[in-house]
Amino acid sequence: KVAKIKIKEPKPVASKPKQKINIDAELAKKNSKPNLSFVVIGHVDSGKSTLIGRLLYDLGIVDSKTLHKLTKESDAMGKSSFSLAWIMDQTQEERSRGVTVDICQTQIETPTQKFTIIDSPGHKDYVPQMINGVSQADLAVMNIDANSFESGFSNQGQTKEHLTIAKSLGIERCVVTINKLDVTQWSQTVYDAICDQIRQFLVDELAYDAANLVFVPTSGFLGDNVVKPSKNLSWYTGPTLMQVLEQENRAVSHVVDKKSPFVMVISDIQESSKNDELVISGRINSGIIQPGESVSISPSQEVAVVDSISITASSVGSSVIKHDLQKLAQEGEFVELKLKKLASCENIKIGDVVTLASNVLQPVKKFKCELNLFNIERPLLVGTPFVLFKNGISVPSRLSEIESIVTKDGRSKKRRHLSSNNKAVVVVELLERELPLLTVAQHHKLGRVVVRKDGLSIGAGKILELVA
Ligand code: GDP
Repeated sequence: KVAKIKIKEPKPVASKPKQKINIDAELAKKNSKPNLSFVVIGHVDSGKSTLIGRLLYDLGIVDSKTLHKLTKESDAMGKSSFSLAWIMDQTQEERSRGVTVDICQTQIETPTQKFTIIDSPGHKDYVPQMINGVSQADLAVMNIDANSFESGFSNQGQTKEHLTIAKSLGIERCVVTINKLDVTQWSQTVYDAICDQIRQFLVDELAYDAANLVFVPTSGFLGDNVVKPSKNLSWYTGPTLMQVLEQENRAVSHVVDKKSPFVMVISDIQESSKNDELVISGRINSGIIQPGESVSISPSQEVAVVDSISITASSVGSSVIKHDLQKLAQEGEFVELKLKKLASCENIKIGDVVTLASNVLQPVKKFKCELNLFNIERPLLVGTPFVLFKNGISVPSRLSEIESIVTKDGRSKKRRHLSSNNKAVVVVELLERELPLLTVAQHHKLGRVVVRKDGLSIGAGKILELVA
């Protein structure tokens, strides 16, 4: 039996927008300042947090007083080189949020564009949080330490693993920063050699379109070619990292289908003192929402009214963080929704899926998917347990059926087990709980999962069918 988004009778709660607005005019206003969400990925210590800190500092979002304070604090802890890296933690703290999911996210506005920056941990123990960060991004910035490229690029490093996960989760565009070039005396030879290897891996092994890749030399620590052009990189005539991000923002399609169903995965929950109220936040994955509309939260099927919608952002040149109330929010925006009239808040969790109350998403226990295996040591047999990851949640699961293996020439074959680099159509069973899922046809990004076993990513899948 195939489960689709089932249309139920609307629940007896107010379901109309509070205010009658001209939706097209509101969307046009928003789209005059397009938003790009990017996640910074890469091996631990490659300088991801420092690079983001540098970007925020050179854009004038973090003032010198704050940086001075952080430098004093990091000096006192004997970690003076980390002052820029702590900027992200600082902004996070200032937002004084409740439960967080270990990824730092910050929104900035230039005079013409908006960006959401997602910092993800690089250590191999934090791959689950990295998967969560990638699932909220349009673009990945892969940061490479030019001085210790090999350790990140080895099979034990996170460079290849992060890139593979990003591609598997539907990220089609990638900016590669070759960072810490100050340590390699700004060498063009080092830069070119690293670019060649990464490009080859991305194009030959991950099937990236070479036209969707951009390479940028940087030193996040010294601030070369991040926002300001570098005198040290005299051989480089291309754009700075910030200019590349602006180009990417223009290149990504921002056309929003206002008729597509509203879907948002919860990435953060702020507790409230009232039993029937809650503030949830996340990125709107599809559709639009207005205050006054009622929503349903899957899998608990709790229903609530959206009391208000706000967006938190800083403007370039100002360290003041604004919380702006919205008449409408659309696909791609990171929002906070204040929910009211909840019967109970207890069952609402990070990773739950919010839809309109008229469009309830039924959770499922099994699904059919096209599974692409990475390099695995032992074959996967029917019954093999693994952990399924998607949007901030992980669920113990097992391989319940192997339908067929797709061979290189496109034929399908029956097989009892799966091995390295196999592509197969399989049925996955969730062992401990049901999840609200969408197929890849229903949503290009939400219909994707990563599977891990014994702390390693072993494959990624596209959900083809939901089995009730
Ligand atoms: P992350 O783990 O990737 O977020 O890395 P961090 O930003 O925390 O940086 C790790 C270390 O590398 C810190 O000591 C930084 O000061 C240092 N670092 C970061 N970027 C650069 C750079 O461009 N040049 C040099 N020389 N050191 C850097």
